[in-house]
Amino acid sequence: MVDVTDQGLTCASCNTAITQLPFQPRPGQDVYCRDCHRNQQSFRSGGGSGGSRYQGGGAQHMPRPLKDVSHLNIKCAGCGTAITQLPFDPDPSRDIYCRDCFRSNRDR
Ligand SMILES: [Zn+2]
Ligand SMILES: [Zn+2]
Repeated sequence: MVDVTDQGLTCASCNTAITQLPFQPRPGQDVYCRDCHRNQQSFRSGGGSGGSRYQGGGAQHMPRPLKDVSHLNIKCAGCGTAITQLPFDPDPSRDIYCRDCFRSNRDR
């Protein structure tokens, strides 16, 4: 929480003095006390049902960002190719495979 006591903010809805906000208020931005903020949120999600936007569960496979691991000098346990990028943190206790070997391992 951000202490905004010395900014003299008042709720744009009910004029209650606001002493704490979960964020740093921008100048000119309407801020609301906790009660009014909660009311607004329930207004917003009240239109739909339940409020959860997650539907259909993981149909899209998100591409994972590759990490640069070239400084770790990892070599593929299958073909010995130097591995410079991995989509996960390398586990030193497990064999790491290059993309080609990983794919053919999985196919098997
Ligand atoms: Zn209020
Ligand atoms: Zn390989």
